[in-house]
Amino acid sequence: MDLSTHAFFEGKIVPWSEAKINIATHGFLYGTSVFSGMRAYWNDEKKKLFVFRPFDHYRRLLNSARMMAMEIPYDEEGLIDLTMNLLRTDNWKQDVYLRPTIYKADMGIGVRLHNLKDEFCMFVMPFEKYVSNDTNAHVTFSSWRRIDDNAIPARGKVAGAYANSALIKTDANRAGFDEALALDGNGHVSEGSAMNIFMVRDGVVITPPVTDNILEGITRRSVMELARDELGLEVVERSIDRTEVSIAEELFMTGTAAQIVSVTKVDHRPIGTGKMGPITTRLRELFDDVVRAKNKKYSKWNVEV
Ligand code: PMP
Repeated sequence: MDLSTHAFFEGKIVPWSEAKINIATHGFLYGTSVFSGMRAYWNDEKKKLFVFRPFDHYRRLLNSARMMAMEIPYDEEGLIDLTMNLLRTDNWKQDVYLRPTIYKADMGIGVRLHNLKDEFCMFVMPFEKYVSNDTNAHVTFSSWRRIDDNAIPARGKVAGAYANSALIKTDANRAGFDEALALDGNGHVSEGSAMNIFMVRDGVVITPPVTDNILEGITRRSVMELARDELGLEVVERSIDRTEVSIAEELFMTGTAAQIVSVTKVDHRPIGTGKMGPITTRLRELFDDVVRAKNKKYSKWNVEV
Protein backbone atom coordinates (compact mmCIF):
# COMPACT_ATOMS: atom_id res chain seq x y z
CA MET A 1 0.00 0.00 0.00
CA ASP A 2 1.20 3.47 -0.88
CA LEU A 3 1.27 5.47 2.36
CA SER A 4 2.62 8.68 0.82
CA THR A 5 -0.73 10.51 1.22
CA HIS A 6 -2.52 11.72 4.36
CA ALA A 7 -4.91 10.24 6.93
CA PHE A 8 -7.09 11.60 9.72
CA PHE A 9 -5.85 10.23 13.04
CA GLU A 10 -6.36 11.26 16.68
CA GLY A 11 -8.05 14.55 15.84
CA LYS A 12 -5.91 15.79 12.96
CA ILE A 13 -4.64 15.23 9.44
CA VAL A 14 -1.23 13.52 9.51
CA PRO A 15 1.04 11.79 6.98
CA TRP A 16 -0.57 8.35 6.58
CA SER A 17 2.70 6.63 7.50
CA GLU A 18 2.37 8.18 10.99
CA ALA A 19 -1.22 6.99 11.62
CA LYS A 20 -0.42 3.95 13.77
CA ILE A 21 -2.22 2.21 16.63
CA ASN A 22 -0.63 0.09 19.35
CA ILE A 23 -0.92 -3.75 19.25
CA ALA A 24 -2.83 -3.65 22.57
CA THR A 25 -5.58 -1.37 21.23
CA HIS A 26 -9.08 -2.60 22.17
CA GLY A 27 -10.52 -2.18 18.65
CA PHE A 28 -7.76 -4.40 17.27
CA LEU A 29 -7.90 -7.02 20.06
CA TYR A 30 -11.70 -7.43 20.08
CA GLY A 31 -13.00 -6.13 16.74
CA THR A 32 -14.67 -3.27 18.61
CA SER A 33 -14.67 -0.80 15.79
CA VAL A 34 -17.29 0.32 13.30
CA PHE A 35 -16.59 1.63 9.85
CA SER A 36 -17.91 2.84 6.56
CA GLY A 37 -16.74 2.38 2.99
CA MET A 38 -17.39 5.36 0.76
CA ARG A 39 -16.32 6.30 -2.71
CA ALA A 40 -15.44 9.57 -4.36
CA TYR A 41 -15.63 9.64 -8.16
CA TRP A 42 -13.61 11.76 -10.55
CA ASN A 43 -15.70 13.52 -13.21
CA ASP A 44 -13.36 14.05 -16.15
CA GLU A 45 -15.54 16.65 -17.95
CA LYS A 46 -16.01 18.82 -14.88
CA LYS A 47 -12.47 18.05 -13.64
CA LYS A 48 -13.88 17.62 -10.17
CA LEU A 49 -14.14 14.95 -7.49
CA PHE A 50 -17.55 14.08 -5.98
CA VAL A 51 -18.20 12.03 -2.84
CA PHE A 52 -21.24 9.79 -3.20
CA ARG A 53 -23.90 10.17 -0.48
CA PRO A 54 -21.53 11.02 2.39
CA PHE A 55 -24.38 12.17 4.65
CA ASP A 56 -26.07 8.75 4.37
CA HIS A 57 -22.79 6.91 4.95
CA TYR A 58 -22.06 9.00 8.04
CA ARG A 59 -25.62 8.61 9.34
CA ARG A 60 -25.14 4.82 9.14
CA LEU A 61 -21.68 5.03 10.70
CA LEU A 62 -23.03 7.02 13.65
CA ASN A 63 -25.89 4.54 14.00
CA SER A 64 -23.37 1.68 14.06
CA ALA A 65 -21.46 3.61 16.74
CA ARG A 66 -24.65 3.98 18.77
CA MET A 67 -25.22 0.19 18.63
CA MET A 68 -21.70 -0.33 19.93
CA ALA A 69 -21.89 2.31 22.69
CA MET A 70 -19.42 4.65 21.01
CA GLU A 71 -19.40 8.42 20.94
CA ILE A 72 -17.32 10.85 18.92
CA PRO A 73 -17.38 14.65 18.93
CA TYR A 74 -18.63 14.95 15.32
CA ASP A 75 -22.05 14.81 13.68
CA GLU A 76 -22.68 14.00 9.99
CA GLU A 77 -21.86 17.55 8.85
CA GLY A 78 -18.69 17.65 10.96
CA LEU A 79 -17.56 14.36 9.45
CA ILE A 80 -18.25 15.64 5.92
CA ASP A 81 -16.15 18.78 6.60
CA LEU A 82 -13.31 16.68 7.89
CA THR A 83 -13.59 14.39 4.84
CA MET A 84 -13.41 17.34 2.44
CA ASN A 85 -10.31 18.68 4.22
CA LEU A 86 -8.61 15.30 3.96
CA LEU A 87 -9.48 14.90 0.26
CA ARG A 88 -8.26 18.43 -0.50
CA THR A 89 -4.97 17.81 1.31
CA ASP A 90 -3.97 15.25 -1.31
CA ASN A 91 -5.80 16.92 -4.21
CA TRP A 92 -7.11 13.59 -5.57
CA LYS A 93 -7.89 13.51 -9.31
CA GLN A 94 -9.04 9.90 -9.63
CA ASP A 95 -11.64 7.52 -8.17
CA VAL A 96 -10.87 6.87 -4.51
CA TYR A 97 -12.22 4.75 -1.68
CA LEU A 98 -12.58 6.23 1.82
CA ARG A 99 -12.50 4.20 5.00
CA PRO A 100 -13.69 6.12 8.08
CA THR A 101 -13.54 4.10 11.30
CA ILE A 102 -14.59 4.66 14.91
CA TYR A 103 -12.75 2.40 17.33
CA LYS A 104 -12.32 1.64 21.01
CA ALA A 105 -8.94 3.25 21.49
CA ASP A 106 -7.85 2.24 25.01
CA MET A 107 -5.08 -0.29 25.41
CA GLY A 108 -5.29 -3.42 27.55
CA ILE A 109 -7.24 -6.55 28.28
CA GLY A 110 -10.95 -6.63 29.17
CA VAL A 111 -13.73 -7.28 26.69
CA ARG A 112 -16.58 -4.78 27.04
CA LEU A 113 -17.92 -1.63 25.45
CA HIS A 114 -18.25 0.69 28.42
CA ASN A 115 -15.63 2.92 30.08
CA LEU A 116 -13.45 3.02 26.99
CA LYS A 117 -12.30 5.95 24.88
CA ASP A 118 -13.51 6.22 21.28
CA GLU A 119 -11.46 7.60 18.39
CA PHE A 120 -12.20 8.38 14.78
CA CYS A 121 -9.76 7.82 11.92
CA MET A 122 -9.88 7.71 8.13
CA PHE A 123 -7.71 6.88 5.16
CA VAL A 124 -8.21 7.34 1.41
CA MET A 125 -6.84 5.17 -1.37
CA PRO A 126 -7.15 4.88 -5.16
CA PHE A 127 -9.75 2.29 -6.05
CA GLU A 128 -11.20 0.73 -9.16
CA LYS A 129 -13.07 -2.58 -9.41
CA TYR A 130 -13.72 -4.76 -6.35
CA VAL A 131 -15.21 -7.78 -8.16
CA SER A 132 -13.21 -8.24 -11.37
CA ASN A 133 -15.91 -10.37 -13.00
CA ASP A 134 -18.72 -7.84 -12.51
CA THR A 135 -20.70 -8.58 -15.68
CA ASN A 136 -20.73 -12.34 -15.41
CA ALA A 137 -20.26 -13.38 -11.78
CA HIS A 138 -20.69 -16.98 -10.66
CA VAL A 139 -21.79 -17.34 -7.04
CA THR A 140 -22.57 -20.17 -4.64
CA PHE A 141 -24.69 -20.50 -1.50
CA SER A 142 -22.34 -20.30 1.44
CA SER A 143 -22.36 -23.06 4.05
CA TRP A 144 -21.84 -20.21 6.59
CA ARG A 145 -24.94 -18.51 7.97
CA ARG A 146 -25.15 -14.73 8.08
CA ILE A 147 -24.66 -13.27 11.57
CA ASP A 148 -27.94 -12.64 13.36
CA ASP A 149 -29.19 -9.36 14.82
CA ASN A 150 -29.32 -11.06 18.22
CA ALA A 151 -25.63 -12.01 18.01
CA ILE A 152 -23.88 -9.17 16.17
CA PRO A 153 -26.06 -6.68 14.31
CA ALA A 154 -25.65 -7.13 10.55
CA ARG A 155 -27.28 -3.71 10.07
CA GLY A 156 -24.26 -2.14 11.77
CA LYS A 157 -20.89 -2.15 10.07
CA VAL A 158 -19.00 -3.72 12.97
CA ALA A 159 -15.41 -4.76 12.20
CA GLY A 160 -15.59 -7.95 14.30
CA ALA A 161 -18.59 -9.13 12.28
CA TYR A 162 -16.44 -9.16 9.16
CA ALA A 163 -14.94 -12.45 10.33
CA ASN A 164 -18.29 -13.84 9.09
CA SER A 165 -17.89 -12.08 5.72
CA ALA A 166 -14.28 -13.28 5.43
CA LEU A 167 -15.30 -16.93 5.97
CA ILE A 168 -18.07 -16.57 3.37
CA LYS A 169 -15.77 -14.95 0.82
CA THR A 170 -12.71 -17.17 1.17
CA ASP A 171 -14.60 -20.46 1.04
CA ALA A 172 -16.45 -19.26 -2.07
CA ASN A 173 -13.25 -18.09 -3.80
CA ARG A 174 -11.37 -21.27 -2.90
CA ALA A 175 -14.22 -23.33 -4.36
CA GLY A 176 -13.82 -21.36 -7.60
CA PHE A 177 -16.74 -18.90 -7.25
CA ASP A 178 -16.59 -15.12 -7.47
CA GLU A 179 -18.86 -14.53 -4.44
CA ALA A 180 -21.37 -16.26 -2.21
CA LEU A 181 -24.88 -15.69 -0.96
CA ALA A 182 -25.37 -16.25 2.75
CA LEU A 183 -28.63 -17.48 4.24
CA ASP A 184 -29.72 -16.08 7.58
CA GLY A 185 -30.70 -18.16 10.61
CA ASN A 186 -34.23 -18.53 9.21
CA GLY A 187 -32.93 -19.88 5.90
CA HIS A 188 -33.74 -16.75 3.91
CA VAL A 189 -31.27 -15.23 1.48
CA SER A 190 -29.60 -12.31 3.26
CA GLU A 191 -26.66 -10.92 1.27
CA GLY A 192 -23.15 -11.53 -0.03
CA SER A 193 -19.90 -11.05 1.88
CA ALA A 194 -19.94 -7.29 1.30
CA MET A 195 -22.91 -6.73 -1.02
CA ASN A 196 -26.68 -6.66 -0.97
CA ILE A 197 -28.66 -8.88 -3.33
CA PHE A 198 -31.50 -8.19 -5.77
CA MET A 199 -33.45 -10.56 -8.02
CA VAL A 200 -35.89 -9.86 -10.82
CA ARG A 201 -38.98 -12.11 -10.99
CA ASP A 202 -41.82 -11.45 -13.44
CA GLY A 203 -40.33 -8.01 -14.03
CA VAL A 204 -40.49 -7.06 -10.34
CA VAL A 205 -37.26 -6.05 -8.59
CA ILE A 206 -37.06 -7.85 -5.23
CA THR A 207 -34.57 -7.47 -2.38
CA PRO A 208 -34.59 -8.78 1.21
CA PRO A 209 -36.00 -6.43 3.88
CA VAL A 210 -33.73 -4.79 6.48
CA THR A 211 -35.08 -7.30 9.04
CA ASP A 212 -33.42 -10.26 7.25
CA ASN A 213 -29.95 -9.66 8.70
CA ILE A 214 -28.55 -7.44 5.98
CA LEU A 215 -26.43 -4.34 6.04
CA GLU A 216 -28.67 -1.39 5.21
CA GLY A 217 -26.78 -0.63 2.02
CA ILE A 218 -26.56 2.86 0.56
CA THR A 219 -26.14 1.39 -2.93
CA ARG A 220 -29.19 -0.81 -2.30
CA ARG A 221 -31.22 2.26 -1.41
CA SER A 222 -29.94 4.16 -4.45
CA VAL A 223 -30.67 1.27 -6.83
CA MET A 224 -34.20 0.85 -5.43
CA GLU A 225 -34.90 4.51 -6.17
CA LEU A 226 -33.40 4.34 -9.67
CA ALA A 227 -35.35 1.16 -10.55
CA ARG A 228 -38.61 2.75 -9.39
CA ASP A 229 -38.21 6.30 -10.66
CA GLU A 230 -36.08 5.87 -13.78
CA LEU A 231 -37.08 2.43 -15.04
CA GLY A 232 -40.68 2.57 -13.76
CA LEU A 233 -40.34 -0.86 -12.18
CA GLU A 234 -42.10 -2.21 -9.14
CA VAL A 235 -39.59 -2.66 -6.29
CA VAL A 236 -40.48 -4.95 -3.40
CA GLU A 237 -38.67 -5.66 -0.13
CA ARG A 238 -39.52 -9.15 1.05
CA SER A 239 -37.79 -12.32 2.22
CA ILE A 240 -36.26 -14.41 -0.55
CA ASP A 241 -36.19 -18.22 -0.51
CA ARG A 242 -33.13 -20.02 -1.75
CA THR A 243 -34.87 -21.76 -4.68
CA GLU A 244 -36.34 -18.49 -5.94
CA VAL A 245 -32.85 -17.37 -6.88
CA SER A 246 -32.40 -20.14 -9.44
CA ILE A 247 -35.67 -19.29 -11.21
CA ALA A 248 -35.08 -15.51 -11.23
CA GLU A 249 -34.81 -13.72 -14.58
CA GLU A 250 -31.93 -11.58 -13.33
CA LEU A 251 -29.77 -11.43 -10.26
CA PHE A 252 -27.37 -8.68 -9.20
CA MET A 253 -25.45 -7.58 -6.13
CA THR A 254 -24.84 -4.02 -4.95
CA GLY A 255 -22.27 -2.29 -2.76
CA THR A 256 -20.05 0.75 -2.61
CA ALA A 257 -16.93 -1.22 -3.50
CA ALA A 258 -18.69 -3.70 -5.80
CA GLN A 259 -21.09 -1.14 -7.38
CA ILE A 260 -23.54 -3.30 -9.40
CA VAL A 261 -22.37 -6.86 -10.13
CA SER A 262 -24.36 -8.99 -12.55
CA VAL A 263 -24.69 -12.58 -11.32
CA THR A 264 -25.23 -14.96 -14.21
CA LYS A 265 -24.82 -18.34 -12.52
CA VAL A 266 -25.56 -19.70 -9.04
CA ASP A 267 -24.11 -23.09 -8.12
CA HIS A 268 -23.71 -23.99 -11.82
CA ARG A 269 -27.32 -23.05 -12.66
CA PRO A 270 -27.62 -20.23 -15.21
CA ILE A 271 -29.75 -17.27 -14.11
CA GLY A 272 -32.27 -16.32 -16.80
CA THR A 273 -30.53 -16.47 -20.16
CA GLY A 274 -27.15 -16.97 -18.46
CA LYS A 275 -26.09 -13.49 -19.60
CA MET A 276 -26.40 -10.07 -17.95
CA GLY A 277 -30.08 -9.07 -18.29
CA PRO A 278 -31.60 -5.79 -19.58
CA ILE A 279 -32.60 -4.42 -16.16
CA THR A 280 -29.14 -5.02 -14.67
CA THR A 281 -27.52 -3.48 -17.78
CA ARG A 282 -29.69 -0.37 -17.58
CA LEU A 283 -29.18 0.04 -13.83
CA ARG A 284 -25.41 -0.23 -14.21
CA GLU A 285 -25.41 2.54 -16.85
CA LEU A 286 -27.68 4.77 -14.79
CA PHE A 287 -25.72 4.17 -11.60
CA ASP A 288 -22.41 5.00 -13.26
CA ASP A 289 -23.77 8.35 -14.48
CA VAL A 290 -25.35 9.13 -11.11
CA VAL A 291 -22.23 8.44 -9.01
CA ARG A 292 -20.04 10.50 -11.37
CA ALA A 293 -22.37 13.51 -11.07
CA LYS A 294 -23.47 13.24 -14.71
CA ASN A 295 -27.20 13.06 -13.92
CA LYS A 296 -28.53 16.42 -12.68
CA LYS A 297 -31.67 14.88 -11.16
CA TYR A 298 -29.54 13.06 -8.57
CA SER A 299 -26.97 15.79 -7.91
CA LYS A 300 -28.20 15.84 -4.29
CA TRP A 301 -26.21 12.62 -3.86
CA ASN A 302 -22.95 14.12 -5.21
CA VAL A 303 -20.98 16.27 -2.80
CA GLU A 304 -18.30 18.25 -4.58
CA VAL A 305 -14.87 18.32 -3.00
N1 PMP B 1 -23.51 -5.83 2.91
C1 PMP B 1 -22.31 -5.87 3.52
C2 PMP B 1 -22.04 -6.95 4.50
C3 PMP B 1 -21.33 -4.91 3.22
O1 PMP B 1 -20.13 -4.95 3.82
C4 PMP B 1 -21.61 -3.91 2.26
C5 PMP B 1 -20.57 -2.90 1.90
N2 PMP B 1 -20.61 -1.77 2.71
C6 PMP B 1 -22.88 -3.90 1.66
C7 PMP B 1 -23.80 -4.88 2.01
C8 PMP B 1 -23.28 -2.81 0.71
O2 PMP B 1 -23.50 -1.59 1.39
P1 PMP B 1 -23.21 -0.19 0.70
O3 PMP B 1 -24.02 -0.18 -0.55
O4 PMP B 1 -23.67 0.81 1.68
O5 PMP B 1 -21.76 -0.12 0.43
